[in-house]
Amino acid sequence: MKIAKFINSPSEKEIIFTGGTTGSINLLARSIGNTLKPGEEILISEMEHHSNIVPWQLAAQRTGAVLKYIPINENGELDLSDPDKYFTPRTRIVSLTHISNVLGTINPVKKLAEKAHGVGAVFIVDGAQGVPHMKVDVQNLDCDFYAFSGHKMLGPTGVGILWGKMGQLVNMDPFMGGGEMIEAVTMESSTWNSVPYKFEAGTPNFAQAVGLGAAVDYLADITMEKIAEHEKELTNYALDKLDKIEGLRLHGSPPQRGGVISFNLENIHPHDLAQFLNEDNIAIRVGHHCAQPLLKTLGETATARMSFYIYNDESDVDKFCQSLDSIREYF
Ligand SMILES: *Cc1c(COP(=O)(O)O)cnc(C)c1O
Repeated sequence: MKIAKFINSPSEKEIIFTGGTTGSINLLARSIGNTLKPGEEILISEMEHHSNIVPWQLAAQRTGAVLKYIPINENGELDLSDPDKYFTPRTRIVSLTHISNVLGTINPVKKLAEKAHGVGAVFIVDGAQGVPHMKVDVQNLDCDFYAFSGHKMLGPTGVGILWGKMGQLVNMDPFMGGGEMIEAVTMESSTWNSVPYKFEAGTPNFAQAVGLGAAVDYLADITMEKIAEHEKELTNYALDKLDKIEGLRLHGSPPQRGGVISFNLENIHPHDLAQFLNEDNIAIRVGHHCAQPLLKTLGETATARMSFYIYNDESDVDKFCQSLDSIREYF
């Protein structure tokens, strides 16, 4: 109920508890993915997280469907200059990230939903970076599915959500079989419980679900509008400061962006950078960020990524930049 309200789901029955974003997307890639026919198309993008690439590669291998990628432009936005090349009458599934976990790009989800529906495809949003950082209203976005994870929004690991439109969910086959998801079982066959239980096989992960509920209360109390505003201010503050650091290459400059900034500094390997920053008690993520295809497009094998949440402030950015300056001098 709390979660339904948090993302403005029309019904709590449209909230399916999963193990996380990865679990949610795999459910879809199995359930809807298995209905694909040879030559039908799945459309994703170059900026996807591995968990929104690999399940679709597997689905394409199983069914003979074709996996297509929307490229990115210089700014790190989806390149929609020639949409008819990607949204075709053969497109059955479109699955795109709400916010890039590497570039910070906020994708125009509502517009993309229109494009997907225009060719009769279902539209899935990987919201692992969306729900924690901005107000998400699934009805306004008009997507068919929206997936996110508890541990990226101050909640526990091992729990996530798949929101789906009831009209889609009732027609889908279950992904996993077991207890709870059935209505009746005979030795020969079984019938399914109603939505959402049809998709929640086994003993529910209720301890984690309660934890996620507490995280939602906490975030809703602050309000997502304030959180988004706070991250925007910090990101702009950091971009101004980083711009003045010599030898720093920023990846992507999307006008609509969330609170992550990826960069490389001269020829210093991001892993060395992370180790030096760590000595100053600054924790950042470095590496390929579970987005190897995107890193290939950027021409890097690893990047450093600064990211903000509600517990950061400008003094963190100042310390970060001081630390970068001294690392640069050391090298
Ligand atoms: C973290 C992340 C995922 C995967 O989430 P899990 O919690 O590991 O399942 C998927 N997409 C994006 C954009 C992410 O940032």
